[in-house]
Amino acid sequence: MSVLVTGGAGYIGSHMTYALVDRGEKVVVLDDLSTGNRSLVSEQASLVEGDAGDEALVRRLIEEHGVDAAIHFAGSIVVPDSVAHPLGYYANNTVKSRALIEACVQAGVKHFIFSSTATVYDADAPQPLGEDAAKNPISPYARSKLMTEWMLEDASRAHDLSHMVLRYFNVAGADPKGRTGQSSPRATHLIKRAAQAALGRVPHLDIFGTDYPTRDGTGVRDYIHVGDLVDAHLLALDALRAGAPSSTFNCGYGHGASVREVIATVEKAIGRPLPVREGPRRAGDPPELIADPGRIKATLGWQPQRDDLDEIVRSALAWERRFNS
Ligand code: UDP
Repeated sequence: MSVLVTGGAGYIGSHMTYALVDRGEKVVVLDDLSTGNRSLVSEQASLVEGDAGDEALVRRLIEEHGVDAAIHFAGSIVVPDSVAHPLGYYANNTVKSRALIEACVQAGVKHFIFSSTATVYDADAPQPLGEDAAKNPISPYARSKLMTEWMLEDASRAHDLSHMVLRYFNVAGADPKGRTGQSSPRATHLIKRAAQAALGRVPHLDIFGTDYPTRDGTGVRDYIHVGDLVDAHLLALDALRAGAPSSTFNCGYGHGASVREVIATVEKAIGRPLPVREGPRRAGDPPELIADPGRIKATLGWQPQRDDLDEIVRSALAWERRFNS
């Protein structure tokens, strides 16, 4: 029995792979290395360079490795790019996910875990967001994810497949053992950018909007440590293997931090001010996104271990120092 991890050379997928091998699972990583990095993949996993949408390849891997569960991280994730290149996003996220699900169904994989996003929700829905909150994905990225959720729902109804959709809020931080972290040089996410600015790798950090209707005028997000997110996947996998029904869960802590609070946390960690530049809002950014994690706690028994912005920031900085140093 082994687990197929698509996108396992990427940020979250590489953490997942370590967590799986750490508990003795056999893991096959399938990654096209377009944004992933070979060096982030645990040596105890089998790394196959290839396309998650290559049905023949996926079927062969499932058969060769005796895969019983797939965890699907591979995909494109930059929201503004998805607005500029919608068809590319639908091809890479939706069409390839369809092929992957098909290969899993045909080759007899019983369980599937899918990385979705809080951006499927209507940003105007009341916060915190429960799983049943109104949906209104605005970007092609968010739509490509919701379309894949629907494909999975339909496929699970029709075939011998059970799945879990995990809707991520703002994932940040790095492996406490320093084995992997966020490595994309083009990363756009706040904590990654702040860590780069802290180490002088980018000249300054932009604050995108200071006039939001929030406590200090900057955007508020529910930052979740990647380690807690990975734990949620392990619980989802165990539940599916134990016969749990297909379900959808939010992954966030239920409270948020503003951009200024994140900056203050980074400044505290490095002991000096960050070079920041205040600017206009970034198109499409809602003021606030906060999860209601009640369902995953009640159903899977998820208990966050690292719900601490200081720890998230410290681990992100430690990784940033190590990576490319
Ligand atoms: N943000 C910012 N400067 C940056 C990157 C992000 O001010 O360089 C803000 C962004 O407007 C949002 C929050 O930080 O309020 C989180 O943005 P991020 O891109 O990390 O994640 P998102 O919530 O967009 O997925």
